Amino acid sequence: MKLQGRIALITGGGRGIGRAIALVFAREGAQVAVAARSLDQVEQVAREIADHYTTNALPIVCDVSDVESVERMFARATQNMGRSPDILVNNAGIAVSAPLTKTSDELWRQHLAINLSGTFYCTRAALPPMIERGWGRVINIASIAGKIGAPYIAAYSASKHGVLGLTRSAALEVAAKGITVNAICPGYVDTDMTTRALENIAKRTGLREEQALESIKQMSPQNRLVEPEEVAALALLLASEEGRGIHGQAINVDGGTVLY
Ligand code: NAD
Repeated sequence: MKLQGRIALITGGGRGIGRAIALVFAREGAQVAVAARSLDQVEQVAREIADHYTTNALPIVCDVSDVESVERMFARATQNMGRSPDILVNNAGIAVSAPLTKTSDELWRQHLAINLSGTFYCTRAALPPMIERGWGRVINIASIAGKIGAPYIAAYSASKHGVLGLTRSAALEVAAKGITVNAICPGYVDTDMTTRALENIAKRTGLREEQALESIKQMSPQNRLVEPEEVAALALLLASEEGRGIHGQAINVDGGTVLY
């Protein structure tokens, strides 16, 4: 088991990509804390872990855009699991599309607060004990929208570009301390987030949702959506001992949609 003895904290772990990562990490022997804004979904994931694996899982309520809530989450995880997390996965995120001129202050603020500031608050809280121990992993779930722009996602894309800048700068600060910091950049993944994007495209364009799905699939040369488990497989490599040489990277899991 690749993560035996490790403690992992996964934000946004109640469904989709975060849930897939929590399950794979638990399968590989990590104790896992899963956090999200509401308890029901993270409790469900913790139950799934308890049903299938021998390891502990801790559900935590946290809004990553609220710095005090993040501090409480780290205190709870540390108290309950015996020490602060060895592995942090910054996965919590939102994506709501709108034309730039119709992007409200609130929509802009929410994307930056959750996707970017949330990643910053959690990373800042996680790093000091990792530095002290001389071992740590920070894995930021960014997006290919952190590398390229696209119409109607200015707030989302700006927030994810910010996550990549944060990843690279943090990586250089901790490079010699046994800690790696990386980002994963998925293309469209088969999760609730994509379902909501399809509903939105259908509403705005008059396409049927199946047609919207086809248009999204065609953005990938593989003509398909990515599965959450494919993102989780890369997260496992980055979290593991074998992944220690991969550092400061932003790795696409997108079927070749973006070729850098
Ligand atoms: P999802 O909507 O299914 O899950 C998002 C999770 O984040 C949920 O558990 C939600 O409760 C949580 N969350 C949202 N706001 C939060 C907050 N303020 N505090 C704590 N938790 C919060 O989406 P997903 O597809 O699983 O996305 C996970 C990550 O992957 C996101 O960062 C997203 O931007 C990124 N991503 C998704 C896709 C995709 O196509 N689905 C593509 C690229 C990147």
